[in-house]
Amino acid sequence: MVKQRMMVLGAGAAGLAAARELLDHSMDVVLVDKEDRWGGRAATYGCKATHRCTACGVCLLLDLLEDMEQREALAFYPRTELVGWKSRPEGGFTATLRDAAGKAWDEQVSALVVATGFTPFAARLLPDLGYGRLPGVLGADELEERLRIEGGLFLDGQRAKKIAFVQCAGSRHLLLGADYCSTVCCQYALRMALAMQQDFPDTEVTIFYMDLQAHARGFDEIVSVAEEQLRLLRGVPMHVERQEEGRLLVKYEDVEGARLQESPFDAVVISQGIRPGASTQQLALLLGINRDEHGFFMRHGTTQQSSRPGVYVAGTAGGPGDIRQSIASGRACAAALMQRNEEVGA
Ligand SMILES: Cc1cc2nc3c(=O)[nH]c(=O)nc-3n(C[C@H](O)[C@H](O)[C@H](O)COP(=O)(O)OP(=O)(O)OC[C@H]3O[C@@H](n4cnc5c(N)ncnc54)[C@H](O)[C@@H]3O)c2cc1C
Ligand code: SF4
Ligand code: SF4
Repeated sequence: MVKQRMMVLGAGAAGLAAARELLDHSMDVVLVDKEDRWGGRAATYGCKATHRCTACGVCLLLDLLEDMEQREALAFYPRTELVGWKSRPEGGFTATLRDAAGKAWDEQVSALVVATGFTPFAARLLPDLGYGRLPGVLGADELEERLRIEGGLFLDGQRAKKIAFVQCAGSRHLLLGADYCSTVCCQYALRMALAMQQDFPDTEVTIFYMDLQAHARGFDEIVSVAEEQLRLLRGVPMHVERQEEGRLLVKYEDVEGARLQESPFDAVVISQGIRPGASTQQLALLLGINRDEHGFFMRHGTTQQSSRPGVYVAGTAGGPGDIRQSIASGRACAAALMQRNEEVGA
């Protein structure tokens, strides 16, 4: 029997999960990523345990990374992009790849899993919050990385003790083109806040939110702890300015009190939502597949199938999701792809 050769584009949680599943079913896999490392965005996140595991999902990715390092039947091309895609008359596709040195070559594959992920909302699109202008205003993606590398949030060598999180940044916002919930930012914000408080009990955190979405399994429990330990404030920060002594003054609309209020903080964290990946539009054109009304690759119903037979969509390339869901989606893609092979008798 001729071994099937599959391509997976994107080596984040979803792409790695799809690749692993395909390898487990004795397929050859060509895994391509535009970066020079595996793991995607979640590889930059740290553990968010308090006195116990809060099931943030980062371990799931670490296990996947460790497992994939031992796979020999995998051709991994880092710093490489897909630049051509053609159906072959005899079935399958010819994919043209190009590496960072400009070398291009063709690969013959039976099918493709697109797992090119997402982009965090660009916080500078909310200029009144001061991102990129005021020191101490940072994106949640930067906080994730700082907690992993530095173990806390330090600004000019001083630990930030009073921290505000601004939820729904760039999500549920019609004018910013994203009238959907990103599903992950309530989870990661509460977990990061509780983890910081566990390590440094004098940390005070205010979460400015409109609605807390407990999408993940077991997350209700974390919300209950957060209600006791954090200040959860239904309010919309309108403006952030720097005070003379260097603190950040947040002016906000207190929704429950229906009035404008202000409060000083050492740091303001913008909880960015999930936006389509930077190359989504260009890839949709190249592959001849559709995008949905928010710009993510379209999937048909609950299947992982794109609008073109033989091309599947995994993880956040198809819309918001956490690490656990992205891994599940990658595995589901591989399963759908193998079923298709059986049906066409490949
Ligand atoms: C601030 C923040 C914190 C988060 N914290 C958590 C958390 O604690 N727990 C949790 O479960 N989830 C968390 N999430 C969500 C989590 O990041 C995603 O669920 C996960 O990263 C999705 O994996 P993915 O494989 O779909 O995409 P990605 O992680 O984005 O991986 C996509 C991969 O594709 C590659 N790629 C992109 N374009 C191309 C291209 N054109 N050609 C080749 N390769 C390409 C990228 O380099 C990358 O390696 C958080 C999200 C944000 C924004
Ligand atoms: S909090 Fe996250 S990284 Fe830490 S042990 Fe639990 S799942 Fe793993
Ligand atoms: S998960 Fe929470 S912060 Fe993120 S968009 Fe939904 S409600 Fe807003």
